Amino acid sequence: MSPAVQMFMHDVAARNPGEREFHQAVGEVVESVMPVVEKQPEFRKARMLERIVEPERAVMFRVPWVDDRGEVRVNRGFRVQFNSALGPFKGGLRFHSSVNLSIVKFLGFEQMFKNALTTLPMGGGKGGSDFSPKGKSDGEVMRFCQAFMGELFRHVGPDTDVPAGDVGVGGREIGYLFGQYKKLVNRFEGWITGKGLNWGGSLIRKEAAGFGTVYFAAEMLATRGQTFDGKTVCISGYGNLGSHALEKVNELGGKVVTIADEHNYIYEPDGIKGDKARYVIDLWQVHRQGLEAYAEKYGAKLLPGRPWKTPCDVAIPTGAENEITLDDAKALVANGCKCVAEGANMPSTAEAIKHFQDNGVLFGPGKAANAGGVATSGLEMTQNSIRMAWSREEVDAKLKEIMKRIHCVCLETAEAYGTPGNYVNGANIAGFVKVANAMLDQGVV
Ligand code: GLU
Repeated sequence: MSPAVQMFMHDVAARNPGEREFHQAVGEVVESVMPVVEKQPEFRKARMLERIVEPERAVMFRVPWVDDRGEVRVNRGFRVQFNSALGPFKGGLRFHSSVNLSIVKFLGFEQMFKNALTTLPMGGGKGGSDFSPKGKSDGEVMRFCQAFMGELFRHVGPDTDVPAGDVGVGGREIGYLFGQYKKLVNRFEGWITGKGLNWGGSLIRKEAAGFGTVYFAAEMLATRGQTFDGKTVCISGYGNLGSHALEKVNELGGKVVTIADEHNYIYEPDGIKGDKARYVIDLWQVHRQGLEAYAEKYGAKLLPGRPWKTPCDVAIPTGAENEITLDDAKALVANGCKCVAEGANMPSTAEAIKHFQDNGVLFGPGKAANAGGVATSGLEMTQNSIRMAWSREEVDAKLKEIMKRIHCVCLETAEAYGTPGNYVNGANIAGFVKVANAMLDQGVV
């Protein structure tokens, strides 16, 4: 770490005490972009780095609701509106027990650069709650969503801030959130993305983050003249992202040997294909069940821990932040892994990323590799604005094209700034320069 980066990060840590995940996300970007800022007097004069790490607005609110036994429950809600230089704030809502201000800030910070990379007109933000839908009834989830939107609606809207799903927020939650918003503002607005297909949603939105991550990985493999055909792949989730990544890997001829939840994983040496693959897609989205149900149905063993000791060619982490540690990275490299595409946000620790890069692994960071989800949210917004619905093929072709372009921009930027093949630098610099130039044009606001 250069002395300039060290000094800057010292201030960030002092201003945002205890926000470990936020420090980590900022540290990674600052390390990549400091050389760019140092060479550009306009950025320095405008205090671009100092401004960009400060959210435009952050709201935190009480979410009281009543459970099925009639007990009052209290959760905490967040929306961090990070940057609107490129468009309305845009980013998902995460409902998970781990959610706190640090997590939402790190996610919002990453989102601003990710959205910039899509080239669509979207600023960056993120929100959520420490409420977990797992183990709750539909009625409880609905009452929670209504209570959450009872405050959030004041801060959002189609030209202000456009939420969507993330961990714990899928089609069911988006429906309840949208219904309550519509009731409160008395307007049906093509707002909030990930909507149901029969009331304004986009085809492929559900699949987009998973498909997009695999498209990005395929582009990385192609730089070495390789494809997914015959490759062994480890995936660490089974939800929206993991299950659709699995679907796409299968379609491209790869073999997915693991899926996982937060504590356990399943290893299927012959691959999760056909009936099994279809069941994984429905497991949470339709049946609201976990890996235990898969294990029972197919007689598979539930193994404790993370799947990263499993030999594979490609790893697609789709779980929580920092799920790949240095030890995991060492095991992956030792077992022959040549490509890592981050489906989740910041699933690899800084040390793990360095180990991958030092060992010639193609490493696609989340803000580039998983940008397909939000990119397709952007396409959903476009369809809502023009009051049209595109076909599955049209949306998928656009998604593929966007992922190709992001891959290309990352590679070209990494090369232009003297670190060829470093997708982390490429994504951070390309995203930062786009947002920073828009901020320069818009003055000190
Ligand atoms: N939560 C997703 C992400 O991390 C999607 C956000 C959106 O569609 O707005 O990019």
